Amino acid sequence: MNLLSVSNLNVNFHMKEQELAALIDVSFTLNRGERIAIVGESGAGKSVLGFSIVNLIGKPGYIASGSIKLENKDITQMNLRQLQEIRGKRIAMIFQDPMMTLNPVLTIGDQLVETIRSHTKISYKDARNIAIEKLHNVQIASPEKRFDQYPHELSGGMRQRVIIASVLLLNPDIIIADEPTTALDVTIQAEILQLLLAICRDNGVALVLISHDLGVVSKVAERTIVMYAGRVVEEGPTLEIINDPQHPYTQGLLNALPQMTLPGQRLNQIQGSMPSLAERPSGCAFHPRCPYATERCRQEQPSFIYSGVSSVACFLVEDMLNEFAEQDKEVN
Ligand code: SF4
Ligand code: MG
Repeated sequence: MNLLSVSNLNVNFHMKEQELAALIDVSFTLNRGERIAIVGESGAGKSVLGFSIVNLIGKPGYIASGSIKLENKDITQMNLRQLQEIRGKRIAMIFQDPMMTLNPVLTIGDQLVETIRSHTKISYKDARNIAIEKLHNVQIASPEKRFDQYPHELSGGMRQRVIIASVLLLNPDIIIADEPTTALDVTIQAEILQLLLAICRDNGVALVLISHDLGVVSKVAERTIVMYAGRVVEEGPTLEIINDPQHPYTQGLLNALPQMTLPGQRLNQIQGSMPSLAERPSGCAFHPRCPYATERCRQEQPSFIYSGVSSVACFLVEDMLNEFAEQDKEVN
């Protein structure tokens, strides 16, 4: 059984004038211990998806249809008590800004001890020892000293390490990390990602890494899901997607990576920008930005096909596959 299966998830925003679709027919699975990435530009629906998984979509957003199954229990059908039971303990979230999770008026140590003691009845001293051991596990130097400090006394990278330590205290099955390194310096980013990778691998924790940067996820995630305007457009093994992207949007994201640009050259940004929810283009929503768009793309929504590399929703790929099949017929 999959640890998590999201099926035909639709999330809407209920506005005064209209219903806006934020996620359309999103489906994917996650196995125990697996690491997947969700990538796309800002506005693609990645964070909405992350929050939906723990049923934390705030108003005016709501889950309109579909299911999110944690093993065999549907999260979309859970009451508040059942949701509180899984949040943190089975599915934990890490955000871009650690200050969203840390309490500024409590010391690092008090926050960790409080988390431990809210779930296990042990003495302060024992909880303190566990907390210091966890700080040590996330490679924080002089954990005894950090234990007594306040969040603002720590660097951004160190704060994100504390978050990872606190998330680990509850032994979750899944960590959802939404742009966990975006606010950090490049060198620190790499360290935190390596830490997250090691922690998940060593503890058998599954990871959903949300990022706008395909380069970042390629080092961590085994499978990648590319999103555009609320839909999944391509999904497959990360290495194959990086080596041979099928969807024109995935190709654009890869070409735009700084590593793909020669020194002195301008960044190869994808022309145009992500449409707002209220202005989703007809047919394939990527068509106004796609160099291969045809009349059909403007009118119809492509369905998923397997390209041999990945699962992809694009008429261009579909036509190419059909052509190959025709040629095959002629040869035989
Ligand atoms: Fe481009 Fe058409 Fe493919 Fe959409 S379906 S990505 S517009 S070729
Ligand atoms: Mg986001």
